[in-house]
Amino acid sequence: MSEAVLLDGRRLATHIEESLRAEVATFTTMVGRRPRLVVVLVGDLPASASYVKAKAQAAARVGIDAVVVPVAETASTADLVQLVERIAREESDPADGILVQLPLPARVDATAVLDAVPPDRDVDGFHPENAGLLSQGRPRFIPCTAAGVQRMLIDAGIETAGRHAVIVGRSDIVGKPLALLLASRGTSLPGMPAIGGDATVTICHSRSRDLAGETRRADILVAAAGRPGLITADMVKPGAAVVDVGTNRVDGRLVGDVAFEAVRRVAGWISPVPGGVGPLTVAMLLSNTLLAAELRLGRRSFSAATRP
Ligand code: NAD
Repeated sequence: MSEAVLLDGRRLATHIEESLRAEVATFTTMVGRRPRLVVVLVGDLPASASYVKAKAQAAARVGIDAVVVPVAETASTADLVQLVERIAREESDPADGILVQLPLPARVDATAVLDAVPPDRDVDGFHPENAGLLSQGRPRFIPCTAAGVQRMLIDAGIETAGRHAVIVGRSDIVGKPLALLLASRGTSLPGMPAIGGDATVTICHSRSRDLAGETRRADILVAAAGRPGLITADMVKPGAAVVDVGTNRVDGRLVGDVAFEAVRRVAGWISPVPGGVGPLTVAMLLSNTLLAAELRLGRRSFSAATRP
């Protein structure tokens, strides 16, 4: 069998950035300031620092101001909640989007900190209000990785309607929102690609009994477990689209959850790590930040706030 088509996230992210750059320029000209993203970075984890750097660099490329607020590893939950609230109150240089880089130190109550981000600035889409809107099929900020996966499928022309999607991982950040997105009723807004999934979705997790049995039934298989090499070739239906969200460091190298070399011989499409979902996650964050800036100024209505 021939090799799978590569789902090139880097190329698509570059393309998305190009159109965002034009939209940001229009916003900046009309409003007289750039959209602004404030990122709270706690501690000195090298992976978090490099993700934040990539986000700030991408923001700069499209003309969004990104400010990184470094915080000592020792900060308490109360310190972080107060910091987020202070950023949200700032009026002279308002933050359109506020993002708290995860993971937070284990002793911090991450939920309390994330809940302090006002839902209309929550560009990561983690606030319960945004999660609720997504679950009701009227999303405002779609969590960036889930939005990135869906955008990747749409761009590659991979049909989801009526197909069986299996997602390995049920986290609030990736697996759950992606499941909602793929199962949601297809919608098409004027001038925008369809956001809908209309797929039949199975969510697998660490307690699933027959993971391979489930994944083998997938037309679209998304691996988001954080387990290197979890998805092997025998777990993939021939011709399936395999999207690898996993980002694992093994011997200093970045690898996904999918045994790439073997699975590419079975799958119809496959996303690499690095260069797959990662760049799209960043692109969707930029898109959400512009959306937040537009919503704040009333330049975009809620019902139209559904960039995929
Ligand atoms: P998480 O640890 O919160 O969730 C992992 C999920 O996988 C859990 O629901 C768990 O039940 C499930 N799981 C774990 N082992 C399993 C197994 N053996 N079989 C079946 N299910 C299993 O992680 P997360 O935050 O959702 O992230 C998942 C992965 O995606 C991580 O590698 C993370 O680094 C990566 N990630 C990548 C991006 C990106 O932009 N590319 C963004 C976010 C997360």
